[in-house]
Amino acid sequence: MNANADKSPAEHLLTPVQFLKGVGPQRAELLERLELRRAVDLLFFFPRSYQDMSELRTVQQLEENVPVSVCGVVEEIDERNTGTGRSMLGVLIRQETQFLRSLWFNQPHMRQKFAVGQRVVLSGKPRLNGLRWEMTHPRVEILAAGEDPPSGRISPMYSLTEGLTQPAMRRIVGSIAESHSDAVEEVFPESFLHEKKLLPITDALRQIHAPDNIERLEHARRRFIYQELLFMQLALGLRRSKLQQEQRSPALPANAKIDARIRRLFPFELTGDQQQAIADISHDMQREYPMNRLLQGDVGSGKTVVAEYAMLLAVAHQHQAALMAPTELLARQHVRTLARDLRESRVRIALLTGSLSAAERRTALERIAAGEIDLIIGTHAIVQADVKFKQLGLVIIDEQHRFGVNQRAALRQAGLDPHYLVMTATPIPRTISMTLFGDLDVSTLKQTPPGRQPVHTYLGEEGQREKWWEFFRKKLREGRQGYVIAPLVDDSPELEIQSVESAYENLANGELEAFRLGVLHGRQSSEEKEALMQAFNAGELQVLVATSVVEVGIDVPNATLMTIEGGERFGLAQLHQLRGRVSRGAYPGYVCVYASANSDGAQQRLQAFSRTTDGFELAESDFQMRGPGNLFSLKQHGLPPFRIADLTRDFAVLEEARADAQQMLDAAPGLDAEELQLLKQRVLLRYGGAMELGDVG
Ligand code: ADP
Ligand code: MG
Repeated sequence: MNANADKSPAEHLLTPVQFLKGVGPQRAELLERLELRRAVDLLFFFPRSYQDMSELRTVQQLEENVPVSVCGVVEEIDERNTGTGRSMLGVLIRQETQFLRSLWFNQPHMRQKFAVGQRVVLSGKPRLNGLRWEMTHPRVEILAAGEDPPSGRISPMYSLTEGLTQPAMRRIVGSIAESHSDAVEEVFPESFLHEKKLLPITDALRQIHAPDNIERLEHARRRFIYQELLFMQLALGLRRSKLQQEQRSPALPANAKIDARIRRLFPFELTGDQQQAIADISHDMQREYPMNRLLQGDVGSGKTVVAEYAMLLAVAHQHQAALMAPTELLARQHVRTLARDLRESRVRIALLTGSLSAAERRTALERIAAGEIDLIIGTHAIVQADVKFKQLGLVIIDEQHRFGVNQRAALRQAGLDPHYLVMTATPIPRTISMTLFGDLDVSTLKQTPPGRQPVHTYLGEEGQREKWWEFFRKKLREGRQGYVIAPLVDDSPELEIQSVESAYENLANGELEAFRLGVLHGRQSSEEKEALMQAFNAGELQVLVATSVVEVGIDVPNATLMTIEGGERFGLAQLHQLRGRVSRGAYPGYVCVYASANSDGAQQRLQAFSRTTDGFELAESDFQMRGPGNLFSLKQHGLPPFRIADLTRDFAVLEEARADAQQMLDAAPGLDAEELQLLKQRVLLRYGGAMELGDVG
């Protein structure tokens, strides 16, 4: 009789691993390293891959490039250095009288896995080299003494930790899946499982750990991927409705008169996308809870005018609007644009940045608090504690992903939140805007303003430099202007300045000696930078030699030329931002990017960069190349990592889950329906803390 017999199913699931069959205190310690503490943790510890043992073959049966598994005994191990720090490991496997050689390049750590006489299973694609079969970088499973290769089925492969072998892990999890899967409650109503063709939880757990065949395995994996993405979408939906219920904002509706008064100020016709974005924003701002909108548009797509409309809508209702830029240079540029458009209106603008003198700052703060300023343009200085607004109705954040809960709290006043508009030219892949930013509404500017000329992008070849500079000079003589971007120097502002200054010296005494050059970098004072930009804007300077400080937002339509040095050091998004500086006017732009060192990754990136000027396409390829982890990690946003879903792979499922979550929340707001209680509880358990959804239940 089992000592646990009188426990409830839920208690069973919480059994510490130590007391499970085949575990014990020592293995429990190893499992602890993988954060596996209770039976249920093991049940939901999904395999990271599978080995298809139904494909177990003899060496005679091998076919060129057809993936298979081969079982044999390690006969010989040889390790070689092939010069220049590269290493090669060869492991010869004997199967009766036949041999297979496996190879690893530059993976010296593989050596310690093997010992002569061991039985192993290798899985991979075989290749015939002369008369001998070889496999490069096969997957390896070492069999314990006396253990048979798992045959005729698909074997799970788990993440391991030192001291825990794959067969041991398989036995432990396999036996828990057998004994405990029944105890897991189904979160979905029967009808839902049926409608979505989802495998019921007990089956799904058994199949994912011990699949009967590929089809059933896929069915099980699909259930868990879907469930994981649905949970996240439900959590995002719950958060959205919670915010809508709890937060209050002033209603700032547009009407025909206000609309006409604002549009009259713009020097051009708006594009269709700009019109649509304005319609979206007006719709949001008329409501009594905060707008939470992301305006994304490629560089030069014309986001500023949309922001301007939103700000003036707030002003029309006697509210203040604040615009936060990532740099002082950009803040000043926004002030210039606004001052130009508003020169004949009574709208009052103030600049609020870190470089104001104490007295200037005091005056600005007093006027803002007294309501004598309508538009506050600045840097993060805007969210400092001593800034008191008279009546803040709207906050716009330009080009800045990090704007957290704390900053928002600082801007809330007398129980009222301003409306929020976040602008970005780094297009956010759809997968990300649907997950990490899943509670933002999104408007997208895809069209470019009329009259834009194309930008031509070239990958520079060292031998052709002279030709490029000749072209550069020709265009300068025709009246155009240009940028030269010096290589990025990581983590060392001093070296970066050296790099940009030596580039300047070389050009001023060489290729561009006949022209008026300026040098721009991050260490200059804001006055210096501003003066340089003014001079460049006015055409007094023809070429700016700069660090990537020109990357974001700078708008000088006559600048159409750009040389990028050390292109391999920039990310795709950054390169695209840089290129955006020369695609703003009535003349075509020309970019030539040189790489001073070459890696495969850099080559791939630069190729992608020269192939298309569509920022959205680039963002997607960046996402595919680098994976979601590097761009926007769940962790960085305080969210638990996915167990099985993969945003680069599971996009279709994500879209489905999103639509389903929406539908469920529409039908049962707050998931408050009898049959959804368990589901709701689980969603809150997983995301409640991270998303501040409040307590479970
Ligand atoms: P971004 O989206 O990169 O912030 P901007 O708002 O700076 O782009 O706009 C880029 C340039 O395009 C600016 O010079 C702006 O005046 C101009 N522009 C924006 N919208 C239009 C339009 N509808 N028609 C003509 N020019 C426009
Ligand atoms: Mg901009």
